[in-house]
Amino acid sequence: MEFKFHMPTRVYFGRGCIGKNVEELAGLGSKALIVTGGQSAKISGALCDACSALERFNVGYTIFDRVENNPSTDTVKIGAGEAKQAGADFIIGIGGGSPLDAAKAIAVLSANDMEPEQLFTNSFPNKPLPIIAIPTTAGTGSEVTPYSVLTRSDLQTKKSFGNKDTFPVIAFLDPHYTQSQPVNVTINTALDAFSHNMEGYISTRSTPVSDILAAEGIRLFGCCLDSLKIGVFTLEDRENMLYASLLGGMVISQTGTNLIHPTAYNYTYFKDIPHGKANGYLMAEFLRFNYEAAKDKVENILKLTGFESIDAFAEAIAYLTGEAPRIDEAEIAQYVAIAMTQRGIHTNIRPVQSEDLAEFLRKI
Ligand code: NAP
Ligand code: FE
Repeated sequence: MEFKFHMPTRVYFGRGCIGKNVEELAGLGSKALIVTGGQSAKISGALCDACSALERFNVGYTIFDRVENNPSTDTVKIGAGEAKQAGADFIIGIGGGSPLDAAKAIAVLSANDMEPEQLFTNSFPNKPLPIIAIPTTAGTGSEVTPYSVLTRSDLQTKKSFGNKDTFPVIAFLDPHYTQSQPVNVTINTALDAFSHNMEGYISTRSTPVSDILAAEGIRLFGCCLDSLKIGVFTLEDRENMLYASLLGGMVISQTGTNLIHPTAYNYTYFKDIPHGKANGYLMAEFLRFNYEAAKDKVENILKLTGFESIDAFAEAIAYLTGEAPRIDEAEIAQYVAIAMTQRGIHTNIRPVQSEDLAEFLRKI
C-alpha cells in the first residue's frame, strides 16, 4: 500500500457555521474581495452572513458580483484588477463552482503580474492570496479542491489549473445556503458531485482513502435519488447532498476526474448544457465502458445506489437529465480530439483511445 493524501482546507459544516466561527475571518487582513455571481450569494443568505462577520472585525470588503456560469479568463482578469485596486488581502468566493473557481483564479492573478493564460502552467512566482470558499450549490466540491475550471475560448473548451497553494484555506458549508437553488440547479449539481465520486473511484489514481470517501459520497447520492426525481428536498437531503459534494471534492483533490469530465466539457462549450447535466449524459456508458476493467467497483456503485443493473441505472439518470442532444460524426470527431488533449482522460482505469471515445459518444 502506498499513497498520498493532502487536503489542507479547514472545513466547517453545519447550520450557522460562519456565525459560529467568525474569528476565522479575523487575521487574514484588513480588506477582502468577495467574488460571486449575480444573485446566488444574496438569495442564499451567505453574502449577508459573510458581510456581518467581516463587519464584526472591522474588515473592509468590496464585492465583485460579475462571475458568469462557466467563468471565462476575461472575467477573472477583470476581477483581479478589482482586487488590486481595492488592495484586497484575501478573497472570499461565494456561490456555485463558477464563483468559487473564479475566486481562486483572482487570488493567483492579484498576487502576480501575469495573464490568465499563464495560470495553466500551474507555476506562480508569488503565493495566491488566501481564499475562503462558501458554496451555495452542492456539486463541485470546489471549496476543498485546488482546481479552478475556466472557459478557454481560444481552445474551445474548459481547462483547469491548480496546485497546492490554490486550495481554499477555509470552507464554510451551510446546507441552508443550498435551499434557494432551483430544482434544475439542485439536480445538475447533485449529478456533478456524483460524477466526482464515481470518476475518482474508477481512476488509476484512486487510493484507499479516496475510495472510502467516494463510496460514501456515492451511497449518499443513492439516498437522495427519490427526492431528486420528484424535485422536493428536505433539509436532510440538502445536508446529504452538500456532504456528498464535499466528499467528492476531497476525492478529486487526490485523483482528479477522468473520462466523464473532459468529454462532458464539449456539451457545455458547444451546446450550452450545464456542467452536471452534461456529466449525467455520460454516466451509464462510463460504467459499461469500465465494467470489465473494474467489475468490483462498478458493481459496488450499483449496489450503493440501489440498482440491479446498469440499464436500470441508465434509466434513472436519464430521467434526471433528459435526452442528450444529438451529435453528428463531425462533432464526434471534434469532441474526441478536444477531450483527448485533457490530462484526466488518461487516468481512466480502462485506457481510452480516440476510437474508443468516438464509439463511446455514438452511444450517448
Ligand atoms: P454555477 O455555474 O456556479 O451556478 C449555476 C447557477 O445556479 C447560477 O445561475 C447561480 O446563480 C445559481 N445558483 C447557485 N447557487 C444558488 C442558490 N443557492 N440559490 C439560487 N441560485 C443559485 O454552478 P455549479 O454547478 O456549482 O458550478 C459549475 C462550475 O464549476 C463549472 O464551471 C464547472 O466546470 C466547475 N467545476 C469545478 C470543480 C472544481 O473542482 N473546482 C469541479 C467540478 C466543476 P449566480 O449566477 O447568481 O451565481
Ligand atoms: Fe465537476
